[in-house]
Amino acid sequence: MSYLLKDWEVVIGMEVHAQIITKTKLFSSAPSSFGEEPNENVAFIDAGFPGMLPSLNEHAIDQAIRTGLGISGHINLNSYFDRKNYFYPDLPQGYQISQFFIPLVSDGYIDIESKNVQKKRIRIERIHVEQDAGKNIHDKDPYYSLVDLNRAGVPLMEIVTKPDISSPEEACLFLSKLRTMLRYLKTCNGNMEEGSMRADINVSVRRKGEPLGTRVEIKNVNSLKFIAEAINYEVERQIDLINDGGKVVQETRLFNSITCETKSLRTKEDAQDYRYFTDPDIPMLKITEDRVNKIKDSMLELPDQKKNRYMNDYGLTEYDASVLISEPEIAGYFESAISEYTVLVNNCEIQQSEIKLITNWISSELFAKLNSEQLAIEQSKISPKALSELVMLINTDVISGKIAKDVFQIMWDTGDSAVKIVDEKGMRQITDTNAIEESIRKVLSENPDKLQEYKSGKVKLFGFFVGLLMKETKGKANPQVLNKLLKEYMDK
Ligand code: ADP
Ligand code: MG
Repeated sequence: MSYLLKDWEVVIGMEVHAQIITKTKLFSSAPSSFGEEPNENVAFIDAGFPGMLPSLNEHAIDQAIRTGLGISGHINLNSYFDRKNYFYPDLPQGYQISQFFIPLVSDGYIDIESKNVQKKRIRIERIHVEQDAGKNIHDKDPYYSLVDLNRAGVPLMEIVTKPDISSPEEACLFLSKLRTMLRYLKTCNGNMEEGSMRADINVSVRRKGEPLGTRVEIKNVNSLKFIAEAINYEVERQIDLINDGGKVVQETRLFNSITCETKSLRTKEDAQDYRYFTDPDIPMLKITEDRVNKIKDSMLELPDQKKNRYMNDYGLTEYDASVLISEPEIAGYFESAISEYTVLVNNCEIQQSEIKLITNWISSELFAKLNSEQLAIEQSKISPKALSELVMLINTDVISGKIAKDVFQIMWDTGDSAVKIVDEKGMRQITDTNAIEESIRKVLSENPDKLQEYKSGKVKLFGFFVGLLMKETKGKANPQVLNKLLKEYMDK
């Protein structure tokens, strides 16, 4: 695709639906939990019974305000709920209650940055609060379509960006950063598989310097991988179309993850007129400054603040810091490993090299293990304390980094501490020069011909002797000491 992009610019705007973490629905006391039997979580109002009055879930509003503050947005102290009128079997009220004219939050932003993407600000136009619809089920009965109203009325935030995104990479980066933010704020669990977070992607192309092109909207793409694929497909389709003299029509398209194509669902001409009007059953949403300030005061450290702290206080690289902050649970693990380590060194200040070592053990060995067993870091079989003890043994030369990998594996399998394993299995590194020298003398005397070859110029044989000695000492000789002594002996 890149060859095409020399003359073209891609323009993307996203509308992200995020389910708000709160126990009940937006306007009823039915639970908003996921995975119940169909139609378990339905109050009369969710089923559209006439004469029912909505009663607002104030916690959902607090959560949306918190999210607004997290993206540095402006909280509108006066906003409204509006009815978006349309008919669909999964919407028994005949309208969705949303915020159209004035949203709760406007004008925020999220900054994105990665190895391949320069630091860039993605503006967020608005966050409004609305209710989800139910779900039509077409594959459970041979004759009938069924309706499950568990989702009907579940509180959502719709987070709408300006068309500031210019590539699939930026789109994925934005979405994962937003997800991280929501998970730190604890306002949405960010679970894309369960549909707690889903994105509509608006895509257009233009020749560089030209005004914005016509956009198409790709509905409900539910993984980062598919978002990138959908955008790539759509960009190529639009450029080919325009190059062939055609015109992009404004429409809604669906992405098929099996064929990796987007297909037209409906064009804008058939788009309904939703006849928005302010819901007469719901009073104006008035927020006091005091309420906003209380939420502001209760906010914990946000991902970017944490990342900067890791870089400034711990001397971590931008990359390492980004990996550690990507999930609040990973940051939590890292921070407790650091504090456990600090206890081990009697509260002396922890060195940057030690922090780097802990970071590396988390992002290489631990991540690999978690990945291969498909576990989240909270389920790790090695606790932050246990890991910090292992790192301590490496750092004080009790074991080598290489032996530490074996110890790590045994820790994972048995739950034993690193110290216990190293002691019981006699894995302590040999730093005692006498013992190492003895092995060197033994190995050299057993291989006089090879030693001769080395002396007459075949210096590569040094590695051969290191190998033999590692075998002889069962990998326990301290590598630096061994190398130094061996060199002295062989060059004698
Ligand atoms: P609508 O109300 O019809 O959905 P909006 O103006 O609210 O339209 O825009 C919806 C989304 O489309 C926003 O995320 C916005 O950034 C994005 N968008 C608007 N114009 C374009 C364009 N030309 N190309 C790509 N995305 C666009
Ligand atoms: Mg829209």
